[in-house]
Formats: sequence, structure tokens, C-alpha cells
Amino acid sequence: MAEVIKGIFHIPGQDEMIPDSHVYIIGDPSSQDLSLVDVGLTGKGGYKMSSIDGFGIKLEDIKRVIMTHTHFDHIGCFAEIKEQIPWVELWVHEAEAEELEQGDERTVYGMDMFQSMCQMQYNVEPGAFRFKVDRRLRDRETLKIGGMTWDVLSIPGHSRGSIALYDESNRILIPGDTVYADYAIGRFDLHGADGAALKDSLMRLAELEVDILLPGHNRIVKDLPADYILKTAQQWAPYLT
Ligand SMILES: [Zn+2]
Ligand SMILES: [Zn+2]
Repeated sequence: MAEVIKGIFHIPGQDEMIPDSHVYIIGDPSSQDLSLVDVGLTGKGGYKMSSIDGFGIKLEDIKRVIMTHTHFDHIGCFAEIKEQIPWVELWVHEAEAEELEQGDERTVYGMDMFQSMCQMQYNVEPGAFRFKVDRRLRDRETLKIGGMTWDVLSIPGHSRGSIALYDESNRILIPGDTVYADYAIGRFDLHGADGAALKDSLMRLAELEVDILLPGHNRIVKDLPADYILKTAQQWAPYLT
């Protein structure tokens, strides 16, 4: 079902040649203060909007988009979403906010080859990813939104401004592309990536008590084993230097 637990809806990504990130809608609907976590690939705005509609969520209750990081497969359809929900704020970790405001698209595309491929495939103009950032998120901030409490953890490595959102009371982790199900982790070869930082970030996440893992891609896990993230980190450590 689309509602993972009370207060969290999941819109699965619709991968194409390029993946489309999942979207999580966080917040108790009765709070009328909902957030989208990531939006997904260019061209997927209509799909995401119709999913939101299908959940019976009122657009006026959606107040913001929080980015786990600003890769193309996560922020690609932000302009499409913004067209439908013009009042949404954009919240991004401070390490990627400046680039986004300057129209520096190196993090969005990750590498030159991707940039030309995405621009050609999706008819994206150069400079399309210049957005005003309404709030720059910082490590260890606590967000009290939608009747829930989320800690912001800075977890660089997959990208410089990657964050995780952690709900300690419900033991839920939204780690973006840093760690997935099945002992997989995000790539660490794109612009701003750093293998050693990714190792440290995984070790930091390993200290959290997590039952529900809601990653940016692939399946979600509702009964995460206690040492899952630690094992994942240990398995990848030799490659993360
Ligand atoms: Zn990514
Ligand atoms: Zn991704």
C-alpha cells in the first residue's frame, strides 16, 4: 500500500533509462503541513501529481519539497511540481544550495556525459536547474513539521550535500541514495562524491536505531535488521577510500 505507516506515503519511482527517485510524502494529513521528500526525474511531475491526487491529499496542504540531494533523478521534475504547487518551498542542504541558486549544474548532472545525455533525452535547456532555495538545511537540525519530528543528518559521500531525515521516535530513516535495501549503497564517482566521506556517513547512520528504511530507489524495508547498516558499511569499506 502507498501509506508506509501513518504519516508517510510512498510514490514509487518509475525508472526509465535513467532512474526516477521515489517520493515520500511526510506529515500527518490532519496537520495540513505536508512535505515531499524529493520529486524525481524530469517528465515525471504529472505522474507524481496524479499519485498525490490518488491518495486524496489536498495540494494546499503541501508546503515544501525537501531534497535528500540535488541529482537529476531526484530534482528533475521540480519545475513541473512547482508549476502545479507554486507556493512550495525548496529546502536543500547548505552544501548544495549555493550551486542551485547560481545555476551551477555540476551536482545535478554529476558528470559531463550525463549532462549531454539528459539534455538531449529530455530536451532540458542548459541552466534549467537554477532555483531559489528557501531554506538551507544544516547538520543536526530538528524539523518539527507535519506533526512529526525529523532530524537532519549531513551524510556527504554520494554527493556533497546529501542528507538523511531521521524520525527517532518511529525509527524511520530516509537516507536518499546513501544506502539502499539488499546491502547496496549509492555510487561515489560523480561530481562532489567522496568515497571516504561516504564510509564515515554510513558509519554514522549505523549508529541509529532504524526499523524502517525508505531509500531513494529500489525496495523499501519495514523490518530492518539491527546491524543492517553496519554490515553494509563494513562490506563496502574496502572500496571507500
Ligand atoms: Zn543520487
Ligand atoms: Zn538517485
